Amino acid sequence: MSEILETLLALQDIDLKIDSEKRKIIKKEEEIVDINKQLEELKANLEEKKHNFEKARLQLAREELELKELEEKLKAAKNKLYSGEISSPKELSQWEKTMEKLEESKSSLEDSVITSLENAEELQEEIQEKTQFYSQKEKNLLLLLNQLQEELETIRKSISEKEREREKIIASLPQEIVSTYEELRRKFPDPVTYLSGETCEGCNLTVPLAAVKAVRKGEELVRCPNCGRFLNRK
Ligand SMILES: [Zn+2]
Repeated sequence: MSEILETLLALQDIDLKIDSEKRKIIKKEEEIVDINKQLEELKANLEEKKHNFEKARLQLAREELELKELEEKLKAAKNKLYSGEISSPKELSQWEKTMEKLEESKSSLEDSVITSLENAEELQEEIQEKTQFYSQKEKNLLLLLNQLQEELETIRKSISEKEREREKIIASLPQEIVSTYEELRRKFPDPVTYLSGETCEGCNLTVPLAAVKAVRKGEELVRCPNCGRFLNRK
């Protein structure tokens, strides 16, 4: 094998490794995006629960205030009724009706307060549970994120090392051959391929006999007349 061909193969080997590492980077970056999304969702979910709890708590406070006001009205009505100030039976019956209505409202409001209280307590418990669960999950996701960042760092370092190595190889090759190689690499991942019998393994087409012979001799650089790849003997 000519020395140039050997160097080209080494170059191709490095380029394929760089390609594979770049694919790994894309995959890991996607994983990072996914984890960040999960973290945001966790946060939004918990925020929503807290918001609901706040709403429930406000409703409870409103109802409790309303109940207090109602109780005061009721007390005032009772005082009036039993004060002895009212002597007319008609007026008395009106006051009694008012009191009945107030009692009814009070009873239904008391039911509401109990329901709201239960609702708020339930939400609070849920928040406590979820907060614990979320913080554990968040911890795990952050660990994973950290690990992925470290892996990315390692891959990036490895790529820069390979790129430096690549520069050295390129510097040792004739400029014209490098240009051809780079041009081929824009089309194929493997600008250097093998001759299998009389067939180019890159494009699977038969190569003219003269070229086959030249490849077998291994003295000069031969390119496949069909696809242009550099041909190497097996
Ligand atoms: Zn070919």
